[in-house]
Amino acid sequence: MTGSEVFSITSIIDAFFSSSVRVDNIVQQVFRNQKKSSILGDDTWTKLFKFDTSYPCKTTFDIWDWETCDNIIYSNLETEIGNNKDLIVAHFLALDHIGHASSSITHPDFKAKKDKISKFLTDIVQKMSQDYVLIITGDHGMRDDGNHGGATKEEIESFMFAYTKSGQLSALSQYKKSLG
Ligand SMILES: [Zn+2]
Repeated sequence: MTGSEVFSITSIIDAFFSSSVRVDNIVQQVFRNQKKSSILGDDTWTKLFKFDTSYPCKTTFDIWDWETCDNIIYSNLETEIGNNKDLIVAHFLALDHIGHASSSITHPDFKAKKDKISKFLTDIVQKMSQDYVLIITGDHGMRDDGNHGGATKEEIESFMFAYTKSGQLSALSQYKKSLG
């Protein structure tokens, strides 16, 4: 979202210690343009960006907590969609935590969490209006031992999935235009 600074020591320091991101990015543009935005889950976001509504998780770095952060999203995302936000960021953490804590992506709870997120997002898609664009991505990949932070292909590569009920991503380009 902020460019290709995968190995930048500055971005690593920013992620752990900083109070803001200084490169141009979508989240900051939304806030500066007085659009309504929300963050749910990983509290690193609230340290780096400004949102007008936040539901930050206080156990972001507790890898043994596999419930609290995602439950914030399960409990509040639908409400935030109903509040007609212009941008909602929902950052799930359970899969990351299970990977670190169990050191395996074949742990039974790993699959159970994937299935739970999948079902939740399926329900959200059904409730989404035509105007919304759902973007699903990951901020990093993961090795088979459930960890990340190194430079292997599995760790630094991710994916992006975008979906809108209108059948095309014109909503995204219209929104970009509205930001000026
Ligand atoms: Zn992690």
